[in-house]
Amino acid sequence: MKKTLSFLLILSLLFPFSACKSESEKSSRSGIFFDTFITLTVFGQDDGLLDSAFSLLKEYDDLLAKDSKKSDVSRLNNADGKEISINPKTALIIEKAKEYETLTDGAFSITLGAVTELWGFGKEIAGIPDKTDLKNALSASEKGEIIVTNQNRARLTQGAKLDLGAFAKGYIANELGALYKKENKSGVIDLGGNILTVGAKPDGADFSVGIKDPQNPESIKLTIFSEATSVVTSGIYERNFTQNGKLYHHIINPKNGYPAETGLASVTVICSDSSKADSLSTALFCMGREKGLEFIESLKNTEAVFIENDGNTHISSGLKLSDDEITFK
Ligand code: AMP
Ligand code: MG
Repeated sequence: MKKTLSFLLILSLLFPFSACKSESEKSSRSGIFFDTFITLTVFGQDDGLLDSAFSLLKEYDDLLAKDSKKSDVSRLNNADGKEISINPKTALIIEKAKEYETLTDGAFSITLGAVTELWGFGKEIAGIPDKTDLKNALSASEKGEIIVTNQNRARLTQGAKLDLGAFAKGYIANELGALYKKENKSGVIDLGGNILTVGAKPDGADFSVGIKDPQNPESIKLTIFSEATSVVTSGIYERNFTQNGKLYHHIINPKNGYPAETGLASVTVICSDSSKADSLSTALFCMGREKGLEFIESLKNTEAVFIENDGNTHISSGLKLSDDEITFK
């Protein structure tokens, strides 16, 4: 399914429980960045915040777009192993992402680009790659390393390609959140299902964010209630194709280069840092429920919801589940 379309059926829900007047005073703006339909909402007067936020989105899109020859990511991917100059902002993203590669013991990996490019999820060419091509791409990815020097120079191992698809939106959501806070604003940052809520709702109620039903992504399976935080989901329904009756999805097991088959249909991570939630949702999906739950329990103030292919739900110990509502305090 094309990601942009799927995001038009987006999951984020803000339920105005009490139809108080100030609740209706909000500004929202949508657009397409990072091949994703995004919506930013500010409560109360916008005071130019959305203009600044959209400039920031455009700046990051220009730095990271895989398909634009001028972006840092595509210049690194085409540098044949040579060191090149990059924007310090790109360097910071890479450095931060590498921390999560280490934390997850490689379940989250930003050098999987040669493999993900072969699968082509979200593109016309999507299909099962040739076995030899995949083996070679996996080997290049495994050997791949991106090294940042001097905050504005980087080198990517020859043959490897950078793919920040599981991380960049979370990182940028954090940057946008910082902008909201600097301007003393509250609101909701929705980067295609990668949600960051900021400040407080005008009516003082908790924020509510829906988790899609992976088998029927147009409907919401669970709703998370919490104070401002980030909620990020990695799911099989986001980008996929079916071949010979089998569904192939875009979350790749870095150990074999194939879509991770762990019995999971989606993983949602809830924590204040959206880049952490983004990288961990992908990593936990690859780890599977058992290992993933153990891992998430080892982290403070970081929670997860696992939905299995059979529809069963498992939550980490800092969440409370009652019917289809989850609370995070
Ligand atoms: P997400 O939706 O955050 O789980 O990110 C999935 C996207 O990240 C995919 O479309 C790929 O571009 C990339 N990706 C897939 N598998 C991995 C992985 N194991 N580690 C890091 N990035 C990945
Ligand atoms: Mg992710």
